[in-house]
Amino acid sequence: MPDLIAAAAAAGVERVVTIGCGRAQSEQAVALAEAHPQVYAAVGVHPVDAGRGNWRDSDVDWLRDLAAHEKVVAIGEAGLDYFHERTTPDDQPRAFRAQGELAADLGMPLVIHTRDAADDTMVILRDLGLTDVVLHCFSIPEYLDEALERGWTISLAGPVTFPKNTALRDVVPRIPADRLMVETDAPYLAPVPMRGKRNQPAFVAHTLACVAELRGDAVADLDASTSATAARVFGW
Ligand SMILES: [Zn+2]
Repeated sequence: MPDLIAAAAAAGVERVVTIGCGRAQSEQAVALAEAHPQVYAAVGVHPVDAGRGNWRDSDVDWLRDLAAHEKVVAIGEAGLDYFHERTTPDDQPRAFRAQGELAADLGMPLVIHTRDAADDTMVILRDLGLTDVVLHCFSIPEYLDEALERGWTISLAGPVTFPKNTALRDVVPRIPADRLMVETDAPYLAPVPMRGKRNQPAFVAHTLACVAELRGDAVADLDASTSATAARVFGW
């Protein structure tokens, strides 16, 4: 991990949010954030984990305790994933709603993971009525307008650099600069030209460059605006 942080710093990455996908990982994320000034943590139960019967309603208690740590900046990833887990679908919405209510209660952003479940994810998000939402690894361009109307932030990851991903790439110029962030989703989904490698925070520079090109922005301007958006959303 220190190597990855050093590589990120060398690539101009000033801050990293590492994410927990369950209790043990969330605790690890907080420990990493404690150990490294430039690392922050999000704590949550990922829908794949929740969908494997690992969600208990009492999990909001440890989430609330961890979220009180000064380096914890968001709740999540929470959401729905029907690609990986279709067997126990009711645990996913229960975990999602509970984490949404916790985020609202704590005044923290909710980081959303959604895969093959866009319509159902939107139903729950509308119901929760949150404005402080980050659509992580944004993949639902058909809902961009509604997401923007509701005040949510769009976070683009490696898939936006894939040439065949035209539906997503086409909407990128329409995202207001103050609602747009970039991320890696490491260790998954490495951006072009690193595709196929294990992803790491330093590679976000490639995603930034690609998004700047799609928008016709100067890389330095997009660098500054995405950093400012992240600072506002995560409150650092
Ligand atoms: Zn995710």
